Amino acid sequence: MLLLLGVRGVATLLGVVRFRCSYCGQDARQEVLEVGNRLTLFFIPVLTFSRRYVNRCTSCGGETRLTERQARRGLESAARGR
Ligand SMILES: [Zn+2]
Repeated sequence: MLLLLGVRGVATLLGVVRFRCSYCGQDARQEVLEVGNRLTLFFIPVLTFSRRYVNRCTSCGGETRLTERQARRGLESAARGR
């Protein structure tokens, strides 16, 4: 029996917040991303593992690693307008 397994990296945009970037100093849009690896079986996604959260500056591309809680709270605060 032949099994066709694979792994590929995926990045999902959870939302966008705006604040001054600690890398470039610009007041720029910051993308909050969920990044992980996805196991595929016959090219069909089965599960996501090695999940992590990052904040990526749209001006310079600088990335800061976040905890899941930091990512969710940042997006909630942005949605409330704070
Ligand atoms: Zn930046």
